Amino acid sequence: MDCWRETEGKLVHDPLYIKAAAAAAAAAAVASVLSEKMTAMTKKHCISFPGPIIVGAGPSGLAVAACLKEKGIPSLIIERFNCIASLWQLKTYDRLHLHLPKQFCELPLMPFPSSFPTYPTKQQFLQYLQDYADHFCITPVFNEAVETAEFDTGLGLWRVRTTSAEYRCPWLIVATGENADAVMPHINGMGQFKGQILHTSAYKSGDAFSGKKVLVVGCGNSGMEVSLDLYNYNARPSVVVRDAVHVLPREILGSSTFGLSMWLLKWLPMRMVDQLLLLASRFMLGDTSRLGLERPQLGPLELKAKSGKTPVLDVGTLARIRSGDIKVCPGIKRLTRHGADFMDGSSEEFDAIILATGYKSNVPSWLKEKDFFSDKDGLPRKPFPNGWKGEKGLYTVGFTKKGILGASMDARRIADDIDKCWKSQGQEQ
Ligand SMILES: Cc1cc2nc3c(=O)[nH]c(=O)nc-3n(C[C@H](O)[C@H](O)[C@H](O)COP(=O)(O)OP(=O)(O)OC[C@H]3O[C@@H](n4cnc5c(N)ncnc54)[C@H](O)[C@@H]3O)c2cc1C
Repeated sequence: MDCWRETEGKLVHDPLYIKAAAAAAAAAAVASVLSEKMTAMTKKHCISFPGPIIVGAGPSGLAVAACLKEKGIPSLIIERFNCIASLWQLKTYDRLHLHLPKQFCELPLMPFPSSFPTYPTKQQFLQYLQDYADHFCITPVFNEAVETAEFDTGLGLWRVRTTSAEYRCPWLIVATGENADAVMPHINGMGQFKGQILHTSAYKSGDAFSGKKVLVVGCGNSGMEVSLDLYNYNARPSVVVRDAVHVLPREILGSSTFGLSMWLLKWLPMRMVDQLLLLASRFMLGDTSRLGLERPQLGPLELKAKSGKTPVLDVGTLARIRSGDIKVCPGIKRLTRHGADFMDGSSEEFDAIILATGYKSNVPSWLKEKDFFSDKDGLPRKPFPNGWKGEKGLYTVGFTKKGILGASMDARRIADDIDKCWKSQGQEQ
């Protein structure tokens, strides 16, 4: 850590010099780790890093790295895949746009280009993330999955073991996301079904399903949008709706429903905002229960706050359900060789099944610190806004159930917190 200390005499009192020196030192630290990594891979020795190690190069990991960089604190991101934002690059379908307007999805310190539409496409979002990484000179270590991370009390450091090296650092930031692994449900008879079964993380477009009867299991935002995509490619989709679900229009009176809700919440209690949202939805979308989409007892915002369940923002699927082009099916009793038996006693044949059954965190599989994260769901035990900071230099970013907006809030808090410690250790130069 001595290399971080002041050695340059009078110059260090010049603020411009301090910023430049900090940036150069941060870059040097990362470069030295990369070269040490090469040696470590052959000699298997461990690598010490003076700043925080961030696990995961998704939007959350990038956000916290940028906030740290702005304060002159070097950080190192370790990413299991060979790219940033692997969820968006490798596991999302082609027609995906941001579900929320861009102003609610930007990372700290750098807005979206004004030329981008309100709901950027997946490609535009990825371009923004790449520009963000370039702007802040963020160069993750790719192709290294973190296998274990634990605090070594003797050393007073975190030991982070990856597929090819061991790193030691004073701070560990978990940024592996709420969507690290696909949830693959067990459905009776799954082994018997002769057609293709795939998770939405492997679905790209309806192109491959043209003319086929496809059963989409799950009616969240992904399930609803994939059903519409299949319809647009001349497939014959059916969507399984097992539980009650809130479907809301994406926009109300020309404003995004999300933005309007945030604004109303400043003035009105949540239950009242929910009533207004439901009234507007009824007016714009009609009675969804007549289409087989019962609404939950709790309003959309209250349900999200209590259970994390996100309402579906309709992008046109409801109209296709109403016209009968997309069929709504009840829960599946069992899969058969050529289709499915449903809970209401009906049966139908299908060529393929797409599981829009969501994702889960993978933190319990590698983080040995058990107090902070729940083993049950892999999320911090303390709910938002208190879930970002653990003990002994452990932090988490992006586990708020509030999307990129929540991740950005975490990233700023973490950088401020580490900054205090960094400065008190006299390492800011
Ligand atoms: C289809 C879809 C659409 C969404 N749309 C929006 C939206 O419009 N607006 C919004 O705010 N939110 C949206 N979200 C929710 C959320 O904001 C995004 O999922 C976002 O990508 C979360 O960023 P993250 O960095 O926390 O997690 P991720 O993007 O999942 O990134 C985590 C990274 O960690 C890596 N990783 C995991 N485990 C390890 C390990 N052991 N070692 C090393 N690396 C590891 C992963 O490979 C990944 O690159 C959407 C989610 C999905 C699935």
